[in-house]
Amino acid sequence: MSHLDDLLTHLRFPSISTDPAHQADVRACADWLVEKCRSIGLTTELHPTPGHPVVIARSEAKPNRPTVLIYGHYDVQPVDPLELWDSPQFEPEIRNGRIFARGSTDNKGQHYAHLCGVADTLAEKGDLPVNVIFLLEGEEEIGSPHLEPFLRDHADELQCDVIAVSDTGMIGPGVPTLTYGLRGIACLEFKVSGPASDLHSGIYGGGVMNPATAVARLVASLHEDNGRIAIEGFYDTVRPLQEWEREQWARLPDGDLATRSETGVPAVFGEAGYSSLERRWARPTAEVNGIWGGYQGAGSKTVIPREACAKLSFRLVPDQDPQEVLRLARKHLERHCPPGVTLEIHEGHHGQWYVMDPLGPQGMAAQRALEQTFGKPSLLIREGGSIPIIRSFKDVLGTDTLMLGLALPDCQAHAPNENFPVANFEAGIQLNRYLLEELARLLPT
Ligand SMILES: [Zn+2]
Repeated sequence: MSHLDDLLTHLRFPSISTDPAHQADVRACADWLVEKCRSIGLTTELHPTPGHPVVIARSEAKPNRPTVLIYGHYDVQPVDPLELWDSPQFEPEIRNGRIFARGSTDNKGQHYAHLCGVADTLAEKGDLPVNVIFLLEGEEEIGSPHLEPFLRDHADELQCDVIAVSDTGMIGPGVPTLTYGLRGIACLEFKVSGPASDLHSGIYGGGVMNPATAVARLVASLHEDNGRIAIEGFYDTVRPLQEWEREQWARLPDGDLATRSETGVPAVFGEAGYSSLERRWARPTAEVNGIWGGYQGAGSKTVIPREACAKLSFRLVPDQDPQEVLRLARKHLERHCPPGVTLEIHEGHHGQWYVMDPLGPQGMAAQRALEQTFGKPSLLIREGGSIPIIRSFKDVLGTDTLMLGLALPDCQAHAPNENFPVANFEAGIQLNRYLLEELARLLPT
């Protein structure tokens, strides 16, 4: 069986973690991985959790060399809407050099490439240049609810010098990309209530505060006209972008153009004084994710709604604290709420930002491995999204993570026609081999 055939087998498991109907499929996928890891010579265990199991596979631990933990996830997103797929979601098809299947890019193709790299090195040399631990979980797509407790319970066995994850993106085909930062997140929801029931807007209009107007005013109060967030104290702990970051990112393909073409907006918009990439990767945000209230049906209905609501989320950067941001946001909303209505605020989930030094010894080793794999210097980027488990690795194990993305912008993760180029799978196998060699040169801690 070739590595590619094996990957196609991996992709045939409909390991949709969120759907109880697929629980046995998730388990079967984990069992298959366990067998695979054992067959290439790794000591492998399946660890049950209150949810889906964690696969831990390790090479023989030898003293005086670094230990590298490689993280991935074998669960996948649901597949609907089915009618938008050009081929079956769990019957992988290769077209134009791309493997089309749910999970191909996120994340089976990417972690399986690392497993193949280790398999090849072991087959050729009988040994690896470093100690390797694979940690493959089955709950990433549902927020990894049991992974942090698992890390705490197994912190001793999972001690390592560095972590490698391929679950992020490349700037473009063949462009080696090291992601060294992620934004954090903090969510809240608020409700503005006025009259005891919907009112006739003719009889009472003008005589009471309209809750929908109040919500609109609150939402509008979050930003200044120039895109800056108007919450007092919001920027107090924001670490400014460093000069080398601004220079690096200025050399990347035009972020304004990319933002426009990827989203279809007629013009980009954001905080004055920053480029599109800086706004999306390294500046904090306040976004309205939903706003509702009042009559939504056809025609007109002349009411003053008795309540209206909005959902907000904040993307956070170093050194903002999610709970402090929620406290400041609450204070801001309370201060700006107009008279004549009552405001109720419910705080939602939150997660910390993450940033590591891409110019330190581990970052430089990763950059060298990327350069050897793709034949050109790697680009250093951050991502605007959040991967909470990366921060948990830092907090629980004390270890930094190298995010070595293999996905392309059009790999359609989470969407119909998800795909992964065969070339990226093969590059991932090479990358693993160069990476372990480069990391072997670092002294163990
Ligand atoms: Zn995903």
